[in-house]
Amino acid sequence: MPATDPASANSPVLQFEDVVKKFGDHTVLEGLNFSVERGERVTLIGPSGSGKTTILRLVMTLEHLTGGFIYLDGQPLTHEMRGGKRVERKKRDVAKMTTRIGMVFQQFNLFPNMTVLENLTEAPIHVLGRSKAEAKHRALELLDQVGLSDKADAHPSRLSGGQQQRVAIARALAMDPEVLLLDEVTSALDPELVGEVLGVLRDLAENTDITMLLVTHEMQFAAEVSHRVLMFDQGRIIEDKPPAQMFSEPELERTQEFLKAVL
Ligand code: ADP
Repeated sequence: MPATDPASANSPVLQFEDVVKKFGDHTVLEGLNFSVERGERVTLIGPSGSGKTTILRLVMTLEHLTGGFIYLDGQPLTHEMRGGKRVERKKRDVAKMTTRIGMVFQQFNLFPNMTVLENLTEAPIHVLGRSKAEAKHRALELLDQVGLSDKADAHPSRLSGGQQQRVAIARALAMDPEVLLLDEVTSALDPELVGEVLGVLRDLAENTDITMLLVTHEMQFAAEVSHRVLMFDQGRIIEDKPPAQMFSEPELERTQEFLKAVL
């Protein structure tokens, strides 16, 4: 766990304040406010196009915020207000902040020209400055954790989609992130491969206290691992509840309709 200064120890890991995101004239997120506490696992659900992936991409700074703020451990991620003016943080500082966030994408995004082991050690060595031996030791531990110890020297193309996604999860964990973002990580997989990836994540949820913000259509899985489920519709959070309540007694008709269609 990276050291946090005392001032940020009680801050939420992630905080969204009046977040607005537009693509051209299209407003995708409209004044979003929510936070994710340390150790919390929060799942975003809602219809396609409601802005869930955009939220994760904003946290990863893969998209530019139109308005509002995102804080990591109480520190502004990309910009802050000083003396009534918007002040952008230096690119180098933003890049440093994002090394504390891990993201796993739908489409694995492994480095194809590297072995599995190299995929896991590349960033810890070159970004965090870890020694090769230390990075390798940690990578092998993580491969064991995701059940792929025997694939360390394989190239990603030799692996099934489920195995590639397990490598991608291990690669994100190799950076010891403070928060793990999971964007529909089983959506690109053949149905028979979904279980092994969810198994790895269930294991992670049961045996670690890593903070997770995830988008998934696997409602059973969301119910099992989440502390909170946020229902999105048209760029707004319309319900925010523990999973037992969200799935068994949703309040709003919009949520009821959505869950009826996907459950
Ligand atoms: P969800 O994850 O809930 O399906 P997304 O966050 O992927 O929703 O998308 C929300 C909306 O933003 C959609 O209408 C989508 O078309 C639009 N959108 C996402 N990325 C872009 C982009 N790069 N350019 C233009 N529109 C985008």
